[in-house]
Amino acid sequence: MNQQVSIENGQLIVPNHPTIPFIEGDGVGKEIWNAARTIFDKAIEKAYQDKRSIKWQEVLAGEKSFNLNGEWLPKETMNAFKQYLIGIKGPLTTPVGDGIRSLNVALRQELDLYVCLRPVRWFKGVESPIKHPEKVSMTIFRENTEDIYAGIEWLQGTQEAEKFYQFLSQQMGVSKVRFPKTSSFGVKPVSIEGSERLIRAAIKYALHHKLPSVTLVHKGNIMKFTEGGFKQWGYALAEKEFADVVFTMNQYAKIQKTAGTSAAEQALKNAQSSSKLIIKDVICDAFLQNTLLKPEDYSVVATLNLNGDYVSDQLAAMVGGIGIAPGANINYLTGHAIFEATHGTAPDIAGKNQANPSSLLLSGVMMFDYLGWYEVGQLITHAMQSLFQEGKATTDLARFMKNGQSLSTTEFTQAVIDNL
Ligand code: NAD
Repeated sequence: MNQQVSIENGQLIVPNHPTIPFIEGDGVGKEIWNAARTIFDKAIEKAYQDKRSIKWQEVLAGEKSFNLNGEWLPKETMNAFKQYLIGIKGPLTTPVGDGIRSLNVALRQELDLYVCLRPVRWFKGVESPIKHPEKVSMTIFRENTEDIYAGIEWLQGTQEAEKFYQFLSQQMGVSKVRFPKTSSFGVKPVSIEGSERLIRAAIKYALHHKLPSVTLVHKGNIMKFTEGGFKQWGYALAEKEFADVVFTMNQYAKIQKTAGTSAAEQALKNAQSSSKLIIKDVICDAFLQNTLLKPEDYSVVATLNLNGDYVSDQLAAMVGGIGIAPGANINYLTGHAIFEATHGTAPDIAGKNQANPSSLLLSGVMMFDYLGWYEVGQLITHAMQSLFQEGKATTDLARFMKNGQSLSTTEFTQAVIDNL
């Protein structure tokens, strides 16, 4: 029977045998997808025998699609993701000069996947450039639809850039553009709704997982109305919608002003001892420094699009895992979610049985958690952890491990299955 995931009153309804569309991906995509799919199916079987299973449905995108039908992102693919709500994908080649900036961005925009979710954790055994990677455990909520990433920009020397400059100087009284003739221009839209829905999702996630804090990461000291707005709207939302269960550093500052620092400290201590979620903020540059100096201070992180891009790569690198970092793009209101490998198509090793499937595997773990099939994710994560602790991994990780043993993609896949 054909079953699909649906959503009712904000609750995901997951049948026992759902159809889930997948995009295999280009380059190493085929190898890592085959590996991941085999492991997913084995783990589901181990967890639930025949009570649950997934009917994987291939949909096309990227090079494979272009070579078959001349389209980078066919309508049927988009329709499948719309219909089945949940999907998973390998990496896609970015088309050059074909009207589409990026297939990933097109998918995110069409489905309005406003949260880019990136959990960052360390696996024992994986080499890290820092001394205490075990202290890094953060979940990043990166806003996915706004900011300078919206793609509203004009190239210097074009009529559009000239027209935009004329508008700025003549109608908006802007006289600060240093080299107007040779400037390209970009626009940074940041809205109340866009910020609120992202921050709301981060707070709900932290409450659901009983985590200690949500940190709003921004650059509001310089970009006061956009990044500063994000922070201000975030605090206002937390205090309005989650009044009983959070304590914000905005409230702390108000108490400090009226009743002094010790009263504010006491209020913070009271909030912590009654397990309230602490909402705080930090300027992005300080945050990047602090993640190296005291990563244990941060748990859930909510930030704007561009900051989120930088932050997630730095944090992933800190746990030695830019190649094993998972990700998902989610709209919590409609339920739509696409889970994806965060690395590219790795053309240098494609077809050589060397690719590491871990990023896609861990994205799958996120997908099973999203579906509420927690046992599957636990089995896979546990198996990977055992292998890494024994120094067994694909070459990209094994070469940095003490006594690391390099496994091919297929050997690693079999080893994960043996450890499930
Ligand atoms: P890349 O991530 O493909 O490769 C960077 C380096 O990491 C390479 O040395 C590669 O061998 C290695 N690497 C990546 N994934 C690996 C894996 N699973 N196992 C082992 N090693 C791995 O980045 P790139 O070379 O800049 O990009 C190649 C193509 O991928 C471009 O077309 C780019 O636009 C696209 N891309 C797609 C996505 C996506 O679909 N999410 C993301 C980034 C880049």
